[in-house]
Amino acid sequence: MELSIIGSGYVGLVTGACFADVGHSVVCVDNDPKKVETLQAGKVPIYEPGLEEVIHRNVSAGRLRFTGSIKDGVDNSQVIFIAVPTPQQPSGEVDLSFIEKVAREIANVLTDYRVIVDKSTVPVKTGEKVAESIKRYNRHGAEFDVVSNPEFLREGCAVADLMHPDRIVIGAQSDKAIDLMKKVYEPFMAPMLVTDINSAELIKHAANSFLALKISYINAVSSICDASGADIEKVADGIGMDRRIGRSFLHAGIGYGGSCFPKDIAAFIKISEQLGVPFDLLKEVQRINAAQRERFLKTIRDTLWVLREKKIAVWGLTFKPDTDDIRSSVAVDLVAEMLREGAHVVAYDPKGMDNARSVAAIAKAELAPSALAAIEGAEALVIATEWSEFANVDLALLKEKMATPIVFDGRNLFDPKTMARLGFHYHSIGRASAKPR
Ligand code: NAD
Repeated sequence: MELSIIGSGYVGLVTGACFADVGHSVVCVDNDPKKVETLQAGKVPIYEPGLEEVIHRNVSAGRLRFTGSIKDGVDNSQVIFIAVPTPQQPSGEVDLSFIEKVAREIANVLTDYRVIVDKSTVPVKTGEKVAESIKRYNRHGAEFDVVSNPEFLREGCAVADLMHPDRIVIGAQSDKAIDLMKKVYEPFMAPMLVTDINSAELIKHAANSFLALKISYINAVSSICDASGADIEKVADGIGMDRRIGRSFLHAGIGYGGSCFPKDIAAFIKISEQLGVPFDLLKEVQRINAAQRERFLKTIRDTLWVLREKKIAVWGLTFKPDTDDIRSSVAVDLVAEMLREGAHVVAYDPKGMDNARSVAAIAKAELAPSALAAIEGAEALVIATEWSEFANVDLALLKEKMATPIVFDGRNLFDPKTMARLGFHYHSIGRASAKPR
């Protein structure tokens, strides 16, 4: 089939590449001329495991191309996917101006029947607004259908998630649109759930809120472990072995961040308020998330006493491993806070360094060329992102290179007993702190 994707970022680009990889002919549109130029020159502007290979394979096969023109996309596709940003406004509400602009732009150039699919994460009832907007600006009176098809990919394994999704949710009201959407997704051989548009939109916010709730739940339990001497990893194993609960998303840490969870939870809270059914449970999820980060900072302060002029190494800047994305990263917030308190922060991240350079709040941090270079002479190490590179480090060498072997592990990468045996002061989440033996 001929498909276009409007917005070629973390979602649009991976979706476009994977659609091409199963045999569709795809044109990816973006209004950032630099991004389009980069893509046309054969370079990939984001890091996502396996993505570069899929893009090159499909560009070479003539199934994938890039353009700055929405008209090009609309003219040359039966189904148009919208994957533009839906950022959070200061009020917590979603900024839908990107979606509205694209809807207008599509309407202006629409001449024949098209299915217009919203893949961006949007509040329930946005589909109705998109349809109204297209109708209003539809200069040629062309027929169209609006569909909601929320995306559930995880950055860091987006290609695998796109190729092998748990489910495809299709929110639509016309059989013609449903048939075309089924044809788009047939090659993926994944379970499909067809719903009305409102339900599809709601599924995405409800799913992300539930995942965030699961994270905050285990983080709240980790506080109780800290206070009682229980071990959060064992407790999470014990809970997670119950198939009704499952072990995933029960990893205690310094809280969720990233470009989706914080804004999607804030949006769901706003949506529920606007609908007159406040979802206050989610406010507690937010509170626990913020408190978890504060608790971690308090441990750092309590241990080091004063941060000013101390050399603190930070491993990890991205909001999770295997991505270069540092948007709303807890790691970045931690670095910013330690800099504010006068620490000399030396940070390292395997893929997030380029993006980190442009963040004003952490401009004073020194960026080290490697994990070991960052800890040279450090008075403490903060582990903020669970990259496997960090988990596999030579711990004896780490201790040798540090000025004082104090580790604050926000991701529970190491075994406290091993750390104590090796001579570290080791603080992690929901597990007893370890002192050198
Ligand atoms: P992104 O910022 O990485 O990409 C968005 C792209 O849209 C950018 O390249 C931008 O230049 C382009 N764009 C903006 N306005 C445009 C316009 N008028 N015409 C053409 N292109 C335009 O964002 P993202 O992370 O891909 O997220 C996109 C949407 O998908 C959001 O709603 C997000 O919540 C949702 N989502 C994201 C993820 C994720 O993990 N990143 C997962 C699921 C859903």
